[in-house]
Formats: sequence, C-alpha cells, structure tokens
Amino acid sequence: MSVQLTNRAKQVDRKPMTFLESIYLWNIMKGMAITISHLFRKKATINYPEQTRSVSKVWRGLHVLNRDAEGRENCTACGLCAVACPAEAITMEAAERLPGEEHLYREEKYAAKYEINMLRCIFCGLCEEACPKDAIYLSQTIAPSNYARKGFIYKKGDLLIPHPVNEPEAYQKALGEKADNNKIKKEPTIPETA
Ligand code: SF4
Ligand code: SF4
Repeated sequence: MSVQLTNRAKQVDRKPMTFLESIYLWNIMKGMAITISHLFRKKATINYPEQTRSVSKVWRGLHVLNRDAEGRENCTACGLCAVACPAEAITMEAAERLPGEEHLYREEKYAAKYEINMLRCIFCGLCEEACPKDAIYLSQTIAPSNYARKGFIYKKGDLLIPHPVNEPEAYQKALGEKADNNKIKKEPTIPETA
C-alpha cells in the first residue's frame, strides 16, 4: 500500500472511456470553446517594441552618464559606483584632464573608459545612490534585447547623455525623466503638521 505524503493527492479515474470520450471529440470541442472565448477577451500582450507599457515613475531602466549644463561630463572616475555595484557590472579607466579640455570634463579626472555589462546588472540603482557627482542615473528606457553578448556591454558612448548645447531636444528629453524622478524623491514623506 502506497503512503500518501500530502492531502493534495487526486484519485485517478480508471473508469473505461465512453464512445464520445474515446474519439476525443468532446475534449476537442471543449478546447476549441476555450480558444474561441479568448478571442473576445482583452489581450494580455502588446505589440512590443511598437507599443510599450507605462512604468512607475521610480522604475529603473538603462543608465545615463550625466553632463552639466555646459555639456561637460560630470563623472570624475572615482570608482564609487563600481565599488557599490553588487553585480560587479561596472568597469572604468581614469585619465587626467589635459589643459584645454576644461570644456569637456568638469573635474581634473575623468573616465576615459566606462562600461556597464547589462547582462550582469540587476538595475538596483546602487550606482546612482553611490555617485557623489550626480554623474550617473537610471533612466526609464528599457534595455533593448540583442542577439550577441557584446551587444549588452554598454560603452561610454552609449551611456552619455546628449550634449545640452549641441542636441538640446534630446538632452531635455533624457533629463525630463530624471527631473521627474528627482521631484518624486524630494516629495516629503511625513505630512507637515500645522
Ligand atoms: S544598477 Fe545596480 S547592478 Fe546595475 S550597474 Fe548599477 S549598481 Fe550595478
Ligand atoms: S559615475 Fe559617479 S561614482 Fe561612478 S566613477 Fe563617475 S563620479 Fe564616481
């Protein structure tokens, strides 16, 4: 005698099949009825990437390397984001700013190479939290799919925000998401008492 380990076991019906059951017609009709009933229901899927779902204002997507209002890169290659990253997804190489490059880099040191491996990244946002220079933030852009592993290694050129002077529209669009996020973060969590 077999031992029953849980009370969820279901008795197997060993009755002989009727003629209707033996030709599976009834079961095929039941299956077709379920399929047809779904034709009139609201679709659970969307035509991505032509259509996208709206996400929360605090949702974290692709990273953006920030510039200041003059278009200079904020990142000073301090490495705090890489240290804070639990997935070890960030690598960088620092370089010294040369005379005449003040219009390119805000600080005396900058990231000559900056890479994020999106296959490792868990979009936790700790890099953004760790950055003392407001140089990196997670935008609301969904990381696109790719067929090759190297397509998920985002280099500095892929991550840098558009130049505010040369591409003002693209810059404002990218910054708009960040401005919204900052607004949410600044909202008081404890209501003021009169
Ligand atoms: S979001 Fe998290 S996992 Fe991704 S790079 Fe930043 S710290 Fe690393
Ligand atoms: S993004 Fe911020 S934390 Fe990371 S290296 Fe640049 S300045 Fe430092």
